[in-house]
Amino acid sequence: MTIQFPATKNIKNAIRQEIGQTVVFVIQGVPHACTVCSGANLYDSVNDTSLDPFCPVCSGRYWLVEDVESGILSHVRWRTGDESDFGIAGATFTGDCTVTIDAESLSEDQIVKIKKIKADNRYLKAFRTIKRGVPTRDRIRFVCKEVGKE
Ligand SMILES: [Zn+2]
Repeated sequence: MTIQFPATKNIKNAIRQEIGQTVVFVIQGVPHACTVCSGANLYDSVNDTSLDPFCPVCSGRYWLVEDVESGILSHVRWRTGDESDFGIAGATFTGDCTVTIDAESLSEDQIVKIKKIKADNRYLKAFRTIKRGVPTRDRIRFVCKEVGKE
């Protein structure tokens, strides 16, 4: 007998549509050259910086990186209590919040560049990324800790 596991991705997406919310992911952008320095041909190829340390735009760094904010439909779940997970190594931090998104919402390249996540007007730092779903990994869960909170 062959057991056919139901494809549930569309159902999960529909649930997320219904109970989800838009969460802002702050992702480190791709470095681009300072327009002032590149226009003036001030690239220092030896040090990979600008030849003008007083450039008002890049302050001599040459490469500029801007964060990209991207709103993604997510299922946010805040931790209900202050319970700890007492594993073999003692108390393990379980996180303040989990944020789950469709696996197609972000690429692997973007995931490693997530700097912070903003949900319910609070900033979160994702410290664990778990791919979930059977038979295929169709969603990604970020276990997060609120930033600026002990
Ligand atoms: Zn510059």
